Amino acid sequence: MEFCDRCGAMMLPIKKGSKNYWECRICNYKKLAKIAALKLKTEIKHQKRRIEEARDILPTIAKLCPNCEHNKAYYWTEQTGMEDKPITQLFRCVKCNYTWRED
Ligand SMILES: [Zn+2]
Ligand SMILES: [Zn+2]
Repeated sequence: MEFCDRCGAMMLPIKKGSKNYWECRICNYKKLAKIAALKLKTEIKHQKRRIEEARDILPTIAKLCPNCEHNKAYYWTEQTGMEDKPITQLFRCVKCNYTWRED
């Protein structure tokens, strides 16, 4: 629960893009929701750790990154479609983490 700094009315949580705000329905005063921002930070941290974990597992290959032109990438395969479809090769740049696929 949050109260407006300007008029003291109860504020409503609203979401704009990836950010969460509190909005006063009386005077339209807005402020960033701190708790949500903190949560987002934890999520990013978690995501980063997941990528780091993947780094330990995935093999690397000499491959030009379409994003930053670094010439080393992690690679793995994925079979997305039907069984007769070819396996998709996925790459992730070791430098910028850009991920792309090649059929
Ligand atoms: Zn207000
Ligand atoms: Zn790259």
